[in-house]
Amino acid sequence: SSPSILPTTHSKWSARQCELVESIANEFILSTSKLEALSKEFIHQMHAGLGQDKSKDLAMIPTFITGRPDGHERGCYLALDLGGTNLRVCLITLKGNHELETQQKPFKVPEHLQEAHVSELMDFIAISIKKFIANKHINAKIVEHRTGSDTLELGFTFSFPVAQTAIDAGTLLRWTKGFNCPGAVGNDVVQLLQDALNRKEVNVHVAALVNDTVGTLLAHSYQNPNTFIGAIFGTGTNASYVESAQSIKTMKTDAGEMIINIEWGNFDKDKAFLPVTIHDNKLDRESINPGIHVFEKMISGMYLGEITRNVLLHLIDHRVLFEGTSSDILNQHWAFETKYMSDIEKDSSSTLIPIAQVLEQKLGIYLNTQVDREIVKFVCQLVGKRAARLSAMATAAVIRQGLAHGALHSHGYPLKLDLDEKDDADKGTGSSEAIRVGIDGSVFEHYPHFKERMQECLAELLGSHANELVQLGIAKDGSGVGAALAALIAAKNTKSA
Ligand code: BGC
Ligand code: MG
Repeated sequence: SSPSILPTTHSKWSARQCELVESIANEFILSTSKLEALSKEFIHQMHAGLGQDKSKDLAMIPTFITGRPDGHERGCYLALDLGGTNLRVCLITLKGNHELETQQKPFKVPEHLQEAHVSELMDFIAISIKKFIANKHINAKIVEHRTGSDTLELGFTFSFPVAQTAIDAGTLLRWTKGFNCPGAVGNDVVQLLQDALNRKEVNVHVAALVNDTVGTLLAHSYQNPNTFIGAIFGTGTNASYVESAQSIKTMKTDAGEMIINIEWGNFDKDKAFLPVTIHDNKLDRESINPGIHVFEKMISGMYLGEITRNVLLHLIDHRVLFEGTSSDILNQHWAFETKYMSDIEKDSSSTLIPIAQVLEQKLGIYLNTQVDREIVKFVCQLVGKRAARLSAMATAAVIRQGLAHGALHSHGYPLKLDLDEKDDADKGTGSSEAIRVGIDGSVFEHYPHFKERMQECLAELLGSHANELVQLGIAKDGSGVGAALAALIAAKNTKSA
């Protein structure tokens, strides 16, 4: 018989446990060839998005940012980062020579504002900025770096899909990640923020608007020039990359290249190719945005725990886990946090006592056997591994697009453009300069083995050189620095215009 896909300890599991868990594993495990097929489709959808296709899944948004920082930039800028869970206000001093200084303050966005009218959200942001710059130390810094005008320039990182019309303008396409504020979709988010700043009499000018992935790309490029991709694996997921201008059919530019915000969370929104399970469908149906960002819902931190919860309930209902008994907590929508998966996956002890602690203290499940804990751990591995492999699939697709048509083309990288291509492992010809991917987000930073799982999958898809040539680097809190860099780029454009 073929080797079991179950953990080696499964010899102690009942036949029924083996059977049910194995059928789940079969749905969650993604083979190299399945990922290859997805990767081809991903590139296909990238091309559709770069073209005039109206019904596109991938928005492929031109960002109006045509150059990448090289670390010599100087200046002092405000930056604002509105993401999944936190609002950060920063003062960034770029010192050239790849050096910088950051002063920052996080503000907790009150939960009710996630669904309040957008003007209330923007007022909260404006007041947070006002408080930040009123601080003695911050104010002293600002005065020290003042360059004439009294108005502070601000770069705004807004981590939602925005159709940009300029470096400092763009309309919101849709909310994601639990936000749903009326009055925003279809409107210019820069104007909404500037209006709030004016209402609250804060003397700040919104000079640039960037997606968090773009901010991450710019920030990583300040430290590592020529960064090709900026990606987020956090509450949500997405990436941006450098595309050659001639491939972008949706706009004209004189520049040779432009950063494109892929909005890959919406890949294959009709689920024609993605291997969604009933557990994914249940999550999607019960979310506040059904049918939107289905890919993101298989990858990012907001959702992984909920998928796992769905699988565990399925096993409980089939009476192969916890003797068929759930708990009040586990029965609650969203009660199983992705953080618990991290804790569970971290446990490599033989008795799995730390897992018992999570089950008891966080989820109120007091009766759990060793076999129960083994099954729970295995389910977390299935969900976590699938997320990392889908992330690598998309990353590999973007790199292949760059190799075939874009910014990486003509460097002669010994990487495979498709699975059938010969692996040039021993040839070692072509460029050996790393293709840099700047990454931020809680899942990439904290989820055990996420990076290694991505790397393993990148090597399966791109060939044996992938792990030297594709460098996955952390750009922690990069979007703040990136927003400051975007404000600088915008200010330069205004001067030269
Ligand atoms: C948003 C993207 C963002 C990503 C990561 C997604 O939900 O649509 O714009 O880049 O989350 O924060
Ligand atoms: Mg963020």
